[in-house]
Amino acid sequence: MKITRTQVGIVGAGPAGLMLGHLLHMAGIDSVIVEDRARDYVIERVRAGVLEQGTVDLMIDSGVGDRLQREGLSHDGFSINVYGKLRRIDLAALTGRRITVYGQNEVVKDLIGARMATGRALLFEVADVAVHGLKSSQPGIRFNHNGELQEIRCDFIAGCDGFHGICRPSIPEDSIRIYERVYPFAWLGVLASAAPSSPELVYSRHARGFALFSMRSNAVTRLYLQCAPDEDLTQWPDNRIWDELLARLGNDDGWKPNVGPITQKGVTGMRSFVVEPMQYGRMFLAGDAAHIVPPTGAKGLNLAMADVWRLSRALAEHYQSGSDALLDRYSDDCLQRVWRAQQFSWWMTSLLHRSDTGNPFDSRRQRAELEYVTNSLAAMTSLAENYVGFPIAHEFAGELEKTVLS
Ligand SMILES: Cc1cc2nc3c(=O)[nH]c(=O)nc-3n(C[C@H](O)[C@H](O)[C@H](O)COP(=O)(O)OP(=O)(O)OC[C@H]3O[C@@H](n4cnc5c(N)ncnc54)[C@H](O)[C@@H]3O)c2cc1C
Repeated sequence: MKITRTQVGIVGAGPAGLMLGHLLHMAGIDSVIVEDRARDYVIERVRAGVLEQGTVDLMIDSGVGDRLQREGLSHDGFSINVYGKLRRIDLAALTGRRITVYGQNEVVKDLIGARMATGRALLFEVADVAVHGLKSSQPGIRFNHNGELQEIRCDFIAGCDGFHGICRPSIPEDSIRIYERVYPFAWLGVLASAAPSSPELVYSRHARGFALFSMRSNAVTRLYLQCAPDEDLTQWPDNRIWDELLARLGNDDGWKPNVGPITQKGVTGMRSFVVEPMQYGRMFLAGDAAHIVPPTGAKGLNLAMADVWRLSRALAEHYQSGSDALLDRYSDDCLQRVWRAQQFSWWMTSLLHRSDTGNPFDSRRQRAELEYVTNSLAAMTSLAENYVGFPIAHEFAGELEKTVLS
């Protein structure tokens, strides 16, 4: 077996693992990243697209934001279509902050490019990954690469391997607590070769259910429809998808999305999930490995970035001063942002989806809330503050919580 050594072993080359490796490199800390998928698969995987300003600032400040600044689409607001009536939420006016639309695959592409330029190890297509010795002073990652069994001995392991990875399940069940909620609906998402017909996102609550109009570039539209968790995609030919999108997104002023060829489609389940603590011995969990939010609030990728910013800072303090104070606080500090995002994502999901509880009271109550949220300045400000996200270094549990509003 080939044995190598590094300071931090990172499992997973998604946004969390790649950004962590990048921030550690900036702090002069060595790492090895192992990823079980092929490089092209990781780069082409289409997922999130809305970046909070904190994520944008982190990318720019750490030197990987050049293309993002050139190609990212900066949005000052978004709209909610309330049963045909379009209401705009002016994020910039309400909070002084904005969001940027830039595909997760583009973020990953930029981070892989930056990693390659450093010459530090990033291994794709590793198999049979396992972590061990997590409570010891030298935990290890074992895997097969190109037919050879290898072990990386580390000071610390970062579990950045997403919801279905192996790091979280390697923690004894009696050492963690899991909080979970699975929703009775899912999203049918499509990518279409069609110029966006609105410069901003449109969330829609229609009698037939939720829909979302979004974009990835000036030529590509990203659209979603509320569907059943076990929806059969073979029952959704392209013309049926467009009929449903046009019905749910169209508004009383005649706006509708441009129609074009659908290039990709898939069904994404909706789940809220948190593991506490986000640490076991010398292994720290970050991103989807530790928490999942339903995508309505666009928080998943942004939470992953905030986690690894905290972890990189804590590891830098360990190596620079020998203090583990920030490492000891890592889980508690991350969980404050995680639970804020969980509450917001759950709320936005409940506000905008058809719940089919069978009780008409629920739909009337939901409609009253939609009217309030899109008409009251106080309610719109709360929505906007959460949607643009809190600065990445925001402390959620202070004597007086600092808000993004000045
Ligand atoms: C289908 C889908 C659609 C989504 N849409 C949105 C959206 O619209 N908006 C939004 O904000 N969020 C969305 N999300 C969530 C967002 O994409 C995630 O929050 C984000 O990817 C988290 O990054 P991560 O690095 O923590 O995890 P991931 O991106 O999941 O990265 C984990 C990496 O670990 C690798 N890995 C897994 N197991 C192993 C192993 N055993 N060994 C080595 N490597 C391993 C994986 O291949 C992957 O590359 C979506 C997620 C999914 C699954």
